[in-house]
Amino acid sequence: MPTVRNALIWDAGRDRAEYGDIVIKDGYISSITAPKEAEGSILYDCKGRCLVLPGLVNAHTHVSMTLLRGLGEELPLMEWLQKKIFPIEDRLTAENIRSGADLAIMEMIAAGITCFADMYYFMDEVAMAVLESGMRAALCRGLPGDNPVKLAENLALAKTYNGCEERITVQLGPHAPYTVPRPALEHIVETALDKNLGIQFHWLETKGELDSFRNEYKIEPADYLEQTGLLGVKELILAHCVWHPADQLSVVARDNVTFVHNPKSNMKLGSGYAPIKEFISSGVRVALGTDGAASNNRLDMWDEMRFAALVHKGYHLDPTIAGARGILKMATVNGACGAGFRDAGFIKAGQRADMVIVDMDNPRYVGCDPGNVPEFVVYAGSSRDVRATIVNGNVLYKDGKFNTLDSEKILAAASRDRRSLTS
Ligand SMILES: [Zn+2]
Repeated sequence: MPTVRNALIWDAGRDRAEYGDIVIKDGYISSITAPKEAEGSILYDCKGRCLVLPGLVNAHTHVSMTLLRGLGEELPLMEWLQKKIFPIEDRLTAENIRSGADLAIMEMIAAGITCFADMYYFMDEVAMAVLESGMRAALCRGLPGDNPVKLAENLALAKTYNGCEERITVQLGPHAPYTVPRPALEHIVETALDKNLGIQFHWLETKGELDSFRNEYKIEPADYLEQTGLLGVKELILAHCVWHPADQLSVVARDNVTFVHNPKSNMKLGSGYAPIKEFISSGVRVALGTDGAASNNRLDMWDEMRFAALVHKGYHLDPTIAGARGILKMATVNGACGAGFRDAGFIKAGQRADMVIVDMDNPRYVGCDPGNVPEFVVYAGSSRDVRATIVNGNVLYKDGKFNTLDSEKILAAASRDRRSLTS
């Protein structure tokens, strides 16, 4: 059986990392032995100088927006969307969506990301990119407005790809409260319940959205979530949640609900600072995401972890907020659960063999030991240290080389599409 040898292993279930060998069978971790004891083929020999973490999960993004990176920098959210993003999105073809998705997947695999949650359109293209790359993903077709054609596309996506190769889950994707009329949202929720599907939804990204709830719709956000039935769907991924009131968290502290914190996108677009201290203390599951490459501009969960761990400390003048252990949990198992992969996120027997191998043989890791792995990873670590990315027991990336992607072809196609979209 394939093995990862002599690694320092950490996951959110451990207080301390431990040295060991990881034995993989049929895409799952079958056992963890003492170091240098496992037998079988060697996927990666860590030689005691690499760390193994659960695969990183980018729990909210729009992968094909890699083609829109750098457009309309430093504009307010609505002006950025309406003047720069929407006009180009209107022209995106299925071919563009594929080349943008391939580009994003290449960037993410090289950064140790094994799974992502995505909302966009022409999602069949994204699903095919996921399947061919070997990654794992939770996909939905974005559903703005009240549009039966788009809902039918989302349902067709679910029919074809939900559960495909056990690497894709499909949710319905009502875009946001400010783009989807309430009756249309309620119809989407009923459909999700009927088909046993989850939902991905943008939620209270800006203060204006909270003001609209109170001043126009005359309802508190928690009541809206309850009354529309959203809280009852299989898995509910709420992206951003920057302005979710800190005193309305008890209703969302449920096993089927995940808040996705996107600190860099929220800072770049001037949206604010999510109250994650209150999210955590209320028992809400919090995952981390990058959002699209046009508002981050990296698809790099190391960067996201570092920002998430630092920004709240500075903002609240409190170094005890957003500790590294909790942040690493958000970036791994919490994201995997949110995306509907309940058997991923830990490095232990019975779990999916999704992992990232990190080089400790470099200056940033001098002083790292079994007792301080999360702190080194979050505060000193970097995606530059990723040596290998493994999904379902398959090595997708190793020592700078992609095993499932043709990187030259992907860069050429994306460059060509970017030029044609912006010329
Ligand atoms: Zn988004």
